[in-house]
Amino acid sequence: MSDAIGSPTRAANPALLTLYEEIADCPACELARTRTQTVPGVGPAPAEVMCIGEAPGAREDERGLPFVGPAGRFLDQLLGSVGLSRETVHIANVVKCRPPGNRDPQPEEIAACTPFFERQIAIVDPLLIVTLGRFSMSRWFPGASISRIHGQPKRFGGRIVLPMYHPAAALHRGDLRPVIEADFARIPELLEQARREGPAGNGSVSEPSSPYLPASAAAAPRPSTEQRALL
Ligand code: SF4
Repeated sequence: MSDAIGSPTRAANPALLTLYEEIADCPACELARTRTQTVPGVGPAPAEVMCIGEAPGAREDERGLPFVGPAGRFLDQLLGSVGLSRETVHIANVVKCRPPGNRDPQPEEIAACTPFFERQIAIVDPLLIVTLGRFSMSRWFPGASISRIHGQPKRFGGRIVLPMYHPAAALHRGDLRPVIEADFARIPELLEQARREGPAGNGSVSEPSSPYLPASAAAAPRPSTEQRALL
């Protein structure tokens, strides 16, 4: 993969740089013990479109960048198909460190990482959020089945959220590839709608609070001195 996909250190937004530096030092869950490096995200901030996956895999862990394996190449194709690229879209995961063996992130790991995730969304401040897979989907659609709601956007506050299958799903199930492509093709229309309607769009419902975010975590997102000492 070429360096055209960018580098996390290219983030020029001071708030995003601070966030990435805090993530790089984070010892807040077990994944800190097995990661090669953190994978905070890539892309500009603010950005109109933010794509959110679940957790880094082996190649992401090596490179420190999200979506750099085969699923990432498919994501690049999808972005290109609607006139977008990594230069204009912010790409991140719910969890910033690789779960060993590419297992699913555990609820306590997602909970520990959620303050970072929420700050990242606030800094990027997207008009359109594309959730890739069930872990990011559950932030806005708790309890929903991705097979039922994929491709069906919903407005939350000032944003439209479009749930989709994770691009890796198409690598395992070829029949999902055209489904993902069709869902992605909705992005230009939805982005135009979001621009037109602004923060008070029709049918808006309040942004739900994160199911993983305790009130105390929102108030104290920085890893503590005690947490750092655990490393
Ligand atoms: S809370 Fe997030 S950044 Fe911190 S160790 Fe866990 S996965 Fe990594």
